[in-house]
Amino acid sequence: MQQSMKRISILGSTGSIGRNCLEVVRNLKNQLSIRYLSTYSNIALLIEQINEFHPCAVAICGMKPDAAIEKKMQQLEVEVGWGNEGLLTVASRSDTDVVVNALVGAAGLLPTLKAIEAGKTIALANKETLVTAGELVMQKALQKNVSIIPIDSEHSALLQCLQGERHQHIRRLILTASGGPFWQRPGGTFRDITVEEALKHPNWNMGRKITIDSATMMNKGLELIEAHWLFQVPEDRINIVIHPQSIIHSMVEFVDGSIKAQMGLPDMKIPIQYALTYPDRDTLDASRLDFARLQQLQFALPDTGRFPSLRLARNALRTGGTACAVMNAANEAAVALFLNRRISFDSIPASIEMALTTHEVLQNPSLPEISEADRWARNYVNSLHRAGKM
Ligand code: MG
Repeated sequence: MQQSMKRISILGSTGSIGRNCLEVVRNLKNQLSIRYLSTYSNIALLIEQINEFHPCAVAICGMKPDAAIEKKMQQLEVEVGWGNEGLLTVASRSDTDVVVNALVGAAGLLPTLKAIEAGKTIALANKETLVTAGELVMQKALQKNVSIIPIDSEHSALLQCLQGERHQHIRRLILTASGGPFWQRPGGTFRDITVEEALKHPNWNMGRKITIDSATMMNKGLELIEAHWLFQVPEDRINIVIHPQSIIHSMVEFVDGSIKAQMGLPDMKIPIQYALTYPDRDTLDASRLDFARLQQLQFALPDTGRFPSLRLARNALRTGGTACAVMNAANEAAVALFLNRRISFDSIPASIEMALTTHEVLQNPSLPEISEADRWARNYVNSLHRAGKM
């Protein structure tokens, strides 16, 4: 059957997910075409991408309008938008089918909402969108009859395991976690973990923020919340298991005790391509899993003593309201402080916990109330640091 061309917008095309996404598009040129791209501030790479993929417009969201860059964009015959407004325009233009959200952090929320309002299919790599405002986002997607297809490898695995299944037959979701670089490190030494050590992920090559989240295991906490909203499964039926080889990307257990797992080598191009071709599949020229070389798969239960982020995320999801938005924003602020060498590694979860304890949770928050909770949590964590409490 002849497929029609899917027209794609990528928010965050110069980041790790964005670049992998363009590689998928490059390999499926006859089915996928690029309409819009956006970067935070990586102009050099954006220009390379414009030359190869010829988008109609781009957004540069982390910079003020700049005459020299505008002139360059004119020569490249591409329209340019600036700041948040430029980004939101790229997220909602009418001549696209799929918006890939590969932005970092809660900054991804408004573009996701804009794209949903415009009726676009969302290919979501930005998990913070669902952590911050899962209920609002899912409601809006339902109203607009928009699909949100996960790019996150665990959630792509769950989606693949759930094909052809009924929701009432799900017994539990089992999210696998690599455990990051420290899952076997003694608890007493977490204070001394350096930025360099935390940035060395054993299996995945990713951006800085998510790599630190993997090291604290907050990434898995965020993914727990993401899975809850995407698949509408209660928190107590989502388990987390450490699986250091990252071969099984997640599993679903059904009511009859049968378990489905989705497996493959850790390569983000697989879940990205699945999201862009869903519900179809296509060939992908990538390394293949060799069971003879693999020999064994290991599993272990995560330790919430050394990784309090897992406990914090579960509690925040149970509490509901603005709790998850506060947890996410406090995490973003604390990770930035750690990356700037202002606070120690173990101060990341400690800061989040203090923010959650101090915050007065608002149930059924509106979008402005969520933004306010987010702003409050960032200020709170930064003021903890300034006051020398972290
Ligand atoms: Mg993941």
